[in-house]
Amino acid sequence: MRHTYHLGVLAGDGIGPEIVPAAVEVADAAIVATGADPIDWVPLPLGRLAIDEFGTPLPDVTLKTLAGLDGWLLGPHDSATYPEPHRSQLNPSGTIRKHFDLFANIRPAKAFPGAPAIVEHTDLVIVRENTQGFYADRNTYTGSGEFMPTPDVAIAHAIITRPAVERIAHAAFQLATRRRNKVTIVHKANVLRLTTGLFRDVCHEIAGQYHQVAVDDYHIDAMTVHLLRRAHEFDVIVTENMFGDILSDLTAGIAGSPGIAPAINTSADHGMAQAVHGSAPDIAGQDIANPAAMILSAAMLLDWLAARRGDPRPRRAAELVETAVADTIRAGTTTPDLGGTAGTRAFTGAVIQAIRARC
Ligand code: NAD
Repeated sequence: MRHTYHLGVLAGDGIGPEIVPAAVEVADAAIVATGADPIDWVPLPLGRLAIDEFGTPLPDVTLKTLAGLDGWLLGPHDSATYPEPHRSQLNPSGTIRKHFDLFANIRPAKAFPGAPAIVEHTDLVIVRENTQGFYADRNTYTGSGEFMPTPDVAIAHAIITRPAVERIAHAAFQLATRRRNKVTIVHKANVLRLTTGLFRDVCHEIAGQYHQVAVDDYHIDAMTVHLLRRAHEFDVIVTENMFGDILSDLTAGIAGSPGIAPAINTSADHGMAQAVHGSAPDIAGQDIANPAAMILSAAMLLDWLAARRGDPRPRRAAELVETAVADTIRAGTTTPDLGGTAGTRAFTGAVIQAIRARC
C-alpha cells in the first residue's frame, strides 16, 4: 500500500534558499527513480523572513506543524545578524532541538574520490550529544545557564547527566555495529574531571553491552591532532555538545569542505536533516554554494524514515542519492569550495542526471 510522507521544508537564511530546494529536487528524483512512496513537502516559515512576517524567527505555527510531520529539512539560519532581541535568544535550530528533544546529532565526514581532502579515505561519524554539555543556552529547561551577575562577570555552567550520556552512547554503539565496530569517546577528563569524566565513564560502561565494538578514548585537544594526521583510522566518535560541534567542523574540513558535511538530529519520534555548516552569508545569492551537504542530509532523513517505518524503499532512495553525489564529484562536476566551477544549480542538475543514469 502506498503511503505519503509529509516532510517540512524550512529554507532558512543566506544560502538556505539555494541549497534546500536543491535537496528537495534531488530527493524527489530519487523517490521517483526507486518507486518509493511520494513526499508531500510542507514549506514552513523560519529565519529572517519569519521575523519580518511574524515578529519571530521561529513562529508558533512552524513548531506546531512540525509536531505532526514525519520529519523535516532545516536550512541554516544567519542568527548572528538578527536584530535584537532575536540575536540574544536561543537560535531557531537550538530551539527546535530542545523543543523536540532531538538528542542525537549524527554528523558523518566522508572524503569523496575526486574532491581534495586533507586526509584521504576519511569516513567517520561524529555522534554529538545535542541537549546539554557546555552549551549553556540549551542545557536548561527554561532560561539560560549563561548569565552576568555584574557587567564585568560572565558565568556559564555545563550539565552532564547519566541518562543523557547513556542514550547518546547507545546511539553511537548501535551505529558502530552497522559500520566498522569502533567507537572513540572524546572528553577532557584530565581537567573537567567531574563533567566530562562522567561522560567518558558512562560511555565506557555502555561499551560493556557491545562486546563486538572496540572502544578507546582521547582528550579533545589531542583528538584534533589525531584527526588531522589520521582521520581515516576513526569510525564513530561520541562526544558532548560543544566538543561535537567544533570537532565536526574540523572533520568536515578534513574530508574536503563544509559543503559536503551532512547531518541529522533525531529523537525516537522526530528526524531533522540539517547540514553541519551555517548560512555562509559571504557566498549567498551567487549560485556558488555547494548543496551536497544539504542533499546528503536529506538522504540521511530518508534513511531514518526507512528505519522508523520499517520501509526499505526510502533507504534505496537514500543510497541512490549518496551514490549519485559521489558519481557527480568523481566525474569532475564540483562547486568552487572543492576547486570546481559548477554552480549550485548545475551541480544539482548533474546529481539528478546521475540518479537517472543509475536507474
Ligand atoms: P558558515 O558555516 O556559514 O561559513 C563558514 C565558511 O564555510 C564560509 O567561508 C562559507 O562560505 C563556507 N561554507 C559554508 N557552507 C558552505 C557551502 N555549502 N558551500 C560552500 N562553502 C560553504 O559559518 P559562519 O560564517 O561562522 O556563520 C554564518 C552564520 O551562520 C552565522 O549567523 C552563524 O550563527 C550561522 N550558523 C548557523 C548554523 C545553523 O543554522 N545550523 C550553524 C553554524 C552557523
